[in-house]
Amino acid sequence: MKISKLCIAVFSLLFLYSCSSDKESTPGEDQAPTSPVPTEEVASPMITAGASEESSASNESYSDCAVDVHQHLSNGVNFSVGSATLLEVMSSTSDKSVLVNGHKGLSKVILMPPPETGDGSGLGANYQIDTNMHPSLVQAVADNSDKYFLAAGGAALNPIIHKAHIDRSAGDATAFRAEVKRLVALGIKSIGEMAVLHLSITGTHPYIVAPAFHPLYRVLVEEAAIAGIPVDIHLEAIDTKKHYSLKIPEDMPKNSEGVSCFKTVDGVGADRGLNPSEIKSNIMAFVKLLKYAKDYACNTVGDCSKSKIVWSHVGWDNTSDLNTTVVGDLMGNNSNLYAALKMLNSPGNCQSIENRPLDASGNLQAHWKSLFEKFPDRFVIGSDEFFGESADLTIGSASTQGSWDLIEKLPNELKKAFACDNPRRIYNL
Ligand SMILES: [Zn+2]
Repeated sequence: MKISKLCIAVFSLLFLYSCSSDKESTPGEDQAPTSPVPTEEVASPMITAGASEESSASNESYSDCAVDVHQHLSNGVNFSVGSATLLEVMSSTSDKSVLVNGHKGLSKVILMPPPETGDGSGLGANYQIDTNMHPSLVQAVADNSDKYFLAAGGAALNPIIHKAHIDRSAGDATAFRAEVKRLVALGIKSIGEMAVLHLSITGTHPYIVAPAFHPLYRVLVEEAAIAGIPVDIHLEAIDTKKHYSLKIPEDMPKNSEGVSCFKTVDGVGADRGLNPSEIKSNIMAFVKLLKYAKDYACNTVGDCSKSKIVWSHVGWDNTSDLNTTVVGDLMGNNSNLYAALKMLNSPGNCQSIENRPLDASGNLQAHWKSLFEKFPDRFVIGSDEFFGESADLTIGSASTQGSWDLIEKLPNELKKAFACDNPRRIYNL
């Protein structure tokens, strides 16, 4: 199903802290502090040492160094033939083969498995990039290290946290930590795509939720900090300060036909989906994870810069809560928060235009420009493209085209920073 190939939103529902009942709490999860978003003592630095130099050179062309940090192989691609798939895509001259034709200067890509539930629902078993990590794929990437990098965790780690949450368990931290270490040892550039909240768009598209402050997420950010690599998290925002929960369909955007874009388990027949009818807010738990990860990097690893959490798909908002105020507040209070920007080529029915960097006319919105200028070292492009199967490329292209169109609309001093310097620094490329 085409729409199912879009990596959609993340919901979270999670046991929300200040408001959650005891029976819903996963063992080991803390309750939220009573005050809204906690702040770190120190405001985040605008530009880290070393980055300022790069940013000052941002007027330079990015055509030879642009990195898309978030791309997927298509649902139809079996990773047992990963090498053949990659080679096929790389040799294609089709305009739709955006990964190889230098679209908007795009020249390097991080391949990342989407988040899986592990229960058979969702995007399918073909995304086993990390559980199988077929030698041919690893070799193809290694042979083309000027173009490709690997991330892992969406298929191997996300199902473990998801299941632990469903089981209301803290999970097996020791076994989980060993699995994280196994993936890190493969040389991955990021742990992802993890899902704190992933909304289901169709009847088969997965609904995934696992509280950001789940004990296994804490293990994850610890190991990521030790390795010095980012964690990419898909998190549809439900702002704790705005409301206790998000109700579907009442609180959700409606499509051009006036109906909710998201279906729930309460629906009947074709109206039935996988989302629950109410999802608790999740930003507070995310803030707690950010702070925990930063503290661990500073105090245990001994290097605060080792903690890097990338919020995937910022700019592609399905709940109306992933706005510049929320992102700005969190970035201001958490210097380890980064964002991978994603936009569809044209505004969709179900995404908030206000929360999209470019307005309906394709112009950069003032509040987004302010956010970008305030945090010039925190943003990268992660277009969430799916590729590898020719029939799918048109769909995915809308995401790559839209996301990279944004670069063209940025102030000159930010273009190369977002396209090249930030991903290179954040992902250690
Ligand atoms: Zn994705």
